[in-house]
Amino acid sequence: MALSSLKKGISLSEPRLRFPISLQRRRKHGTVAAHMNENKEFVLVGGGNAAGYVAHAFVENGIADGRLCIVSKEKVAPYERPALSKAYLFPLDKSPARLPGFHTCVGSGWERQTPDWYKEKGIEVLYDTSVSGLDISLGTLSTKAGGTIKYSNLIIATGSTATRLPEAVGGSLPGVHYLREVEDADSLVSSWQEASKVVVIGGGYIGMEVSAASVSWKLDTTVVFPEKYVMPRLFTPAIAHHYEEFYKSRGVKFEKGTSVKKLVAGTSGRVARVELTNGKVIDADTVIVGVGAKPNVIPFLQAGLKSLEGGIQVDGQFRTSAPGIFAIGDVAAFPLKNCKGGAC
Ligand SMILES: Cc1cc2nc3c(=O)[nH]c(=O)nc-3n(C[C@H](O)[C@H](O)[C@H](O)COP(=O)(O)OP(=O)(O)OC[C@H]3O[C@@H](n4cnc5c(N)ncnc54)[C@H](O)[C@@H]3O)c2cc1C
Repeated sequence: MALSSLKKGISLSEPRLRFPISLQRRRKHGTVAAHMNENKEFVLVGGGNAAGYVAHAFVENGIADGRLCIVSKEKVAPYERPALSKAYLFPLDKSPARLPGFHTCVGSGWERQTPDWYKEKGIEVLYDTSVSGLDISLGTLSTKAGGTIKYSNLIIATGSTATRLPEAVGGSLPGVHYLREVEDADSLVSSWQEASKVVVIGGGYIGMEVSAASVSWKLDTTVVFPEKYVMPRLFTPAIAHHYEEFYKSRGVKFEKGTSVKKLVAGTSGRVARVELTNGKVIDADTVIVGVGAKPNVIPFLQAGLKSLEGGIQVDGQFRTSAPGIFAIGDVAAFPLKNCKGGAC
């Protein structure tokens, strides 16, 4: 099939009706395997930062057109994820960032990679498609919806998932938020429009950025974390003290050296208060949990790829333990001399 007809024929809004009519007819006659993807030479799983920059590199090197397929769980094209805890959370009257304003690679001053950009470059993107299995011997991926994707070379760029508080602790109550994807940020912004008392759990990057945004919405904001000071893996006590004082001057309160015992729902079922291990109780209608992330490795490790602490084991060229399969971005654990155990 001509690539031009592929570009016109893909329906991005209806992932399960992806084949153009001509290809569906050929499938009926048994001449084309029933795979969801047309571009099979390179398949990249993941629609995040790494995917966007890989697509850019493929285009720059003249090897994208008709050869690269991106499979993403998200419904939108890859974007600059860091924006979600920064300009995306600006108060609504301060022109918050919204797509398509921050699709990759706009931060680097290159072309903005909107869904049309991928089509124009001949890169197939399967949106809203979650990969749930890998068969290395067949060179296929299976999807949660029951489809099959064929690859010659596979690049895994599935990133991480925000660590959740257990359900028994109230980690899934309405009003409790995690921040990883644009849908999470939309949900938080929606909560903030009705919120008055916010508790942020975690004193790392996410906690600090989200609490800064929360006070800019003029919300009563308390940050809770077990360490002695904020950003303990990065800051010295003196630098942390400087930032804590600055945050306090903007209205942020800190509860240090303590953790969440339980998030408790009110009569509506929504989170209403946060019980801490130090015995204190803080009223809250919105809670944001920023306590770390775990690499999305499960289907790939089940298929036999080797892992290290931190993700899928790769060498200095991002090759996994299986030939023709690479892992990049947050999901890859690679050798670095000054990291614990030799890998990060
Ligand atoms: C709110 C926030 C703020 C951040 N701020 C900064 C910052 O200021 N500076 C910085 O350096 N870093 C920051 N980071 C970290 C940075 O965003 C990540 O390091 C980067 O996004 C990693 O890129 P990635 O492509 O490996 O993973 P991701 O960008 O997470 O992309 C992974 C993609 O894979 C998809 N996926 C996962 N599993 C599957 C599956 N089974 N099937 C199909 N698709 C799947 C996901 O939906 C997602 O689209 C931030 C992260 C967050 C969440």
